[in-house]
Amino acid sequence: MPDQKINILNQYIWPQLVYPFQCAPLKDLKVKFLSDIDKLIRSAVKEIINIPTDTPDAMLYAPRRLRGLGVFKAQWEAYLQHLNICQRLLHVDNPHVAATRNLPNEIEHCIKQLPITFDCSERFSSQKLRKALREDSFHQWSKLKSKGLGIVFYSHWKKGNSWISTKKGLSSSQWTQAIKMNCNTIPVRTLPGRTLDSTRCRRCDEQETLPHVLGFCHHGELLRINRHNTVRSLIAASIRQFASYEVYEEVGCVSSDGSTRRADIIIIDRQKDKGVILDPTIRFEMHEQQPQEVCREKQVIYEPCCQHLGAQYHITHWTVFGLMFGARSTIPRETLNQLKQYKISDATIDAIGSHVLKSSLPIISNHLYPTKFLLWKYVLLTPTSFKITYHFMAMILQAKLNMPVLKFLLLYTTRYKRDVNEQDSRQGLQADDDDDDDDDDDDDEKKEEENDCDDDSLMAIWTEKFDQLLPFPQPFTVLTILYHSFINNIQQGSVP
Ligand SMILES: [Zn+2]
Repeated sequence: MPDQKINILNQYIWPQLVYPFQCAPLKDLKVKFLSDIDKLIRSAVKEIINIPTDTPDAMLYAPRRLRGLGVFKAQWEAYLQHLNICQRLLHVDNPHVAATRNLPNEIEHCIKQLPITFDCSERFSSQKLRKALREDSFHQWSKLKSKGLGIVFYSHWKKGNSWISTKKGLSSSQWTQAIKMNCNTIPVRTLPGRTLDSTRCRRCDEQETLPHVLGFCHHGELLRINRHNTVRSLIAASIRQFASYEVYEEVGCVSSDGSTRRADIIIIDRQKDKGVILDPTIRFEMHEQQPQEVCREKQVIYEPCCQHLGAQYHITHWTVFGLMFGARSTIPRETLNQLKQYKISDATIDAIGSHVLKSSLPIISNHLYPTKFLLWKYVLLTPTSFKITYHFMAMILQAKLNMPVLKFLLLYTTRYKRDVNEQDSRQGLQADDDDDDDDDDDDDEKKEEENDCDDDSLMAIWTEKFDQLLPFPQPFTVLTILYHSFINNIQQGSVP
């Protein structure tokens, strides 16, 4: 677990380095020596978490509450520890110490050695200085053109950054992926050194950037719609708790130019004769003015529909708000204020944040790795979704072959077994007789008994059609999975 290793480093190994720094005389701590320690630490941390070597250093040193990793930096710590000791000794006011050491001078020297770009007085405690240095590091990170793109929103809703320390239900690989997403180092093709051929998207013809993958590429469209709809439902459900409002979702409306549009959430306050259109949108974070831009964009789309909605709901005054949510589970200040106006609870805001994070990660892995087969397997083998798959199969078979699904499976398995037997006899082998196989045979026998009363000619037609057409891209694998899950479900007695 990479996060546990990082915690062990922070809690047990760094403190061991701190003690020598406290004892060593300042002149013996050479800058080169300290920077070498830092290089070692940085490469070890990157290796442990398994993040690319071009991850910005500023991100490693930024505070955890701003999605940095809060890694120990020897170049700061050597002087901060010394400064701390000097301040303590000054406070004690011992005449012997005052006679042997020039403490104000040493403090001044320490502060000079620290890369401080902000106003700082000598009375700053080492704790305050460390905090300021880490925040400065975040500032430096946000100045990076690509790797610091849009990270300014990490400071708007700090609660949404807690997954860095707590993992918040993410698996280790998801956690690593989320850290890569944090600093825009997901291996998309436009990132230098990630591809040998073109920078075009592997799924369409656009430039493959992280904003493209998370927000535009058609390949992840269904996952994106799902992400958006859940956020919409969470907001609507939370507002619906208040009896004074009427809340509707996905309301169709007609614009003044005659085109049709669909408003995500409509809130109606009959007492005040007011209606509000709320349109949540998930965007990749780019710049600080983005929330206002999104709001204006939505106002242009939905304000022409207000007249139509007014007539439909008998409400005179309408306002439109576009709510921007960051694709990396950030929530801009403007959106938070808007959500607070409708008394949306912190728990709901938390749920929205973690839902966005947990659904953006699959969009990335779905884009980068071919998961079609895994998806099929997942859909078919989950007991809850089995019924849906079964009816879906039945529908397709009815439409394409005019054939009941049981017959289809029976036909498939007899053929499958015949092929296997032929193969075995060719190789001079005999199939093993396991208990499981016996169970399968029993089921087949039952079906064969049913089958006996059917018309043989009908069966012949089905067999012929079966050979001609299979409605799936990988019929063999998909059907094997379906067959086995079918048998399992028969044994559990859950077949519809
Ligand atoms: Zn694409």
